[in-house]
Amino acid sequence: MSTVYLATMRTTPKRSLLNKIESLLKRTGINTILQRNELVAIKLHFGEQGNTAYLRPLFLRTIAETVKTLGCKPFLTDTNTLYVGSRSDAVMHLHTAIQNGFGFSAVGCPLVIAGGLRGKNGVRIPIDGEVLKEAIIAKEIVEADSLIVVSHFKAHELSGFGGALKNLGMGCATREGKLVQHSTVAPKVNPKTCRGCETCLAYCPAAAISVQDTTAVIRQDVCLGCGECIAVCPYKAIEIQWNESPDLFQKKMVEYALGALKGKETKSVFLNFLLQVSPACDCYPNSDAPIVRDIGITASTDPVAVDAASCDLVNGEESIPNTAIKKMLRKGEDKWRALYPAIDWQIQLGHGEKMGLGTREYTLVRI
Ligand code: SF4
Ligand code: SF4
Repeated sequence: MSTVYLATMRTTPKRSLLNKIESLLKRTGINTILQRNELVAIKLHFGEQGNTAYLRPLFLRTIAETVKTLGCKPFLTDTNTLYVGSRSDAVMHLHTAIQNGFGFSAVGCPLVIAGGLRGKNGVRIPIDGEVLKEAIIAKEIVEADSLIVVSHFKAHELSGFGGALKNLGMGCATREGKLVQHSTVAPKVNPKTCRGCETCLAYCPAAAISVQDTTAVIRQDVCLGCGECIAVCPYKAIEIQWNESPDLFQKKMVEYALGALKGKETKSVFLNFLLQVSPACDCYPNSDAPIVRDIGITASTDPVAVDAASCDLVNGEESIPNTAIKKMLRKGEDKWRALYPAIDWQIQLGHGEKMGLGTREYTLVRI
């Protein structure tokens, strides 16, 4: 049985939500988890351009300040995306993060885009998964001494919900690691948008691409699945084949979480913010209306327990009218299934238990 702490939204002039974040961190035992001088990666999602549901920089500042009072060196971090968007290379990613309010003056610590300029710098971590035997994790996250995983808790179109496990598994992977989780085949060129410019050829490490009759062609048998060509094509002509089944996708994601935590099993803390619980990922350039009221913040040293408790808290609420959930749902009804009927979101929790990442059994302590 793991302990999950919950800070509700109720506050007083003497105890703000920021004070509650400090209390949550203390209750998880951060004072003994972090040792003086450590490099502490605070893993979050900076939000795509146009998204408005990502976490407020002020929350991250509070976490960074708490880490600094313990004599450690915090930095905010995320990895580049697989798809082409406003965070697909480190330069655009930093621009987006700063535009979204995560400048040094606001958050009080540096920003480091993990996985390098183009999302290629990873470490192959051996894992004993049911599906995978290695996870390719961004180097800066591997090299950090400890990890604080800060997640905007929300629904997700591929995993039912997205919380600590997803932030770890998908969020800490390099571009190649993300492609492994999403797809079993090489990317595909769209002949209607390809201009035959040959840019992708220069970046392909496997020489898997050739241009035939002014259109690029990828050899499936040679492609290494690094995902590089997707990001470099100036015409967005190379498409990811999102062919992995939702069940296997979740299992792979959890096994990547295992890789991201390797060596930091006792050096990590997880915070889920159950605020503006939106119906889809923060990777979209918009945020649709929240599906339930703001609930609060959960914290634990167990990523499975913190996600299980967060799921139960969301499902314990009535749905809000006029959202992506068409029919009003009562307390106790499954909000994730209402949004994504084909996704069994319990798979990520069950597989997390099976892989030894934590337990679905928890005690909820309200602070
Ligand atoms: S970079 Fe894009 S447009 Fe240029 S050849 Fe490759 S796929 Fe075609
Ligand atoms: S995914 Fe990587 S190896 Fe495969 S074609 Fe694209 S650049 Fe080449």
